[in-house]
Amino acid sequence: MINRLAQQIYYRCPVLLQDIALNIYGYWQAKRRFGGEFSAILEGLERSQWLSPSELEDLQNRCLQQLIVHAYENVPYYRRIFEERGLKPHDIRTKEDLVKLPFLTKGLIRKNFRALLAVNIPSSASTPFSTSGSTGQKLKFYTDRRLRWEYNYATLYRFYRWAGFDAGERRVTIAGRFFTNRPPYWRFNRWENQLLLSTHHLDSRTVDLYLDQIERFSPEAIQGHPSAVYYLAKRLAEQGRVLPVQTVLTTGEQLFSDQRELIEDRFQCRVFDAWGQAEMVAMAGECEKHKGYHVASEYGIVEVVKNELGRDDLGEIVATSLQNYSMPFIRYRTGDLGAFADRSCPCGRGLPLLGELEGRVDDALLAPDGHIVLPVAFRTSFAKLEYLDQYQLIQKDRAYYQMLVLKDRPLTYAERRGIMRVLRYYLGSSAEIEIKSVSQIPRTPRAKQRLILREVPITPLRGKRR
Ligand SMILES: [Zn+2]
Repeated sequence: MINRLAQQIYYRCPVLLQDIALNIYGYWQAKRRFGGEFSAILEGLERSQWLSPSELEDLQNRCLQQLIVHAYENVPYYRRIFEERGLKPHDIRTKEDLVKLPFLTKGLIRKNFRALLAVNIPSSASTPFSTSGSTGQKLKFYTDRRLRWEYNYATLYRFYRWAGFDAGERRVTIAGRFFTNRPPYWRFNRWENQLLLSTHHLDSRTVDLYLDQIERFSPEAIQGHPSAVYYLAKRLAEQGRVLPVQTVLTTGEQLFSDQRELIEDRFQCRVFDAWGQAEMVAMAGECEKHKGYHVASEYGIVEVVKNELGRDDLGEIVATSLQNYSMPFIRYRTGDLGAFADRSCPCGRGLPLLGELEGRVDDALLAPDGHIVLPVAFRTSFAKLEYLDQYQLIQKDRAYYQMLVLKDRPLTYAERRGIMRVLRYYLGSSAEIEIKSVSQIPRTPRAKQRLILREVPITPLRGKRR
């Protein structure tokens, strides 16, 4: 309620005041990310990446043993799991021993929320967080403050350095954050030398303004969801134009090879893709050799598990955070698919390599007036609606959309209105929209549950191509 009120007030402020507010927030964020232990952690990670695979394994096992003792002694949920199975902490010494423990799922976290909190971690050292419902189910959880800020950003900046980008250099971030509801659709965050662009207003009517603004800003790096950066690249192709930058950093959705090709062609640089999740259990990123995704094995343990989600040679990625003591995530099912590479990377880093990785896949939708709405826009808007737990938005026809909401009761008038407001905002008044509460949301043959699905083709963009 307060948040919503604060947002309404913020939206009514003049741009100058919004800028000041954003920069106060930016200052506070930069301090948390880059203050404290950030530099020391990054320095350590820079060293450990060059250890041999077996040295890294030893390091990981020592971290795992420490986490397991902690979970056994201080986390009621895990004490019970160990006792039920007749296990003691010394039974789990390596990654291979983890099979003795059960998987952790979103459902189990919700059901055992209190019992999963470590009793010995003071509240000042942990912080609540919640996912945006990227896999269709929102989740509240706790992490160590050190992980949420310093460790997370140090790990991310090790990836960025592989791409030749360092903290403080000029970058454009195109993100699904709400910081404006009217033009201009960008703000400058001086504390991180960062031009923030909103994906919520990126469409065929504004794309040229976005590109001009990026060109004027002249960044070293462009950072964003693949679908958003690809959308910009497509427009550049239509205009027969290029916009050279040093690097493009993508994350948050699956990056397809045709997207990568066009982005690299139009921004005249390599794309460096990274994978992670809001739950902060594991991260992986591409190095300068682009042979796959190096797992940050200091951050978390990655297992690839054969189950009903996997297919062919891909399994589900199950991860154990080595850095979250507030609410240990052990063998957490990420819902993403992957496979370890059967080779080492020519870069010489000892970090394990995932050869295949399939993250989140969602479609962009076509509004009745012909402009494209990116999945990230819907995802972040729906994340604000607490009552929306699992859903699927399907475009059935040019102007016909169906929103399925998982509920064991009909939606209330207010809930319906909240959902409708978001849909009308992006799709316009001429869209025909049906909202249904359902007891089950269908999965696609790809096994992943897709939040946004388009059943009609988007007519290819016309324009000059090289
Ligand atoms: Zn490498």
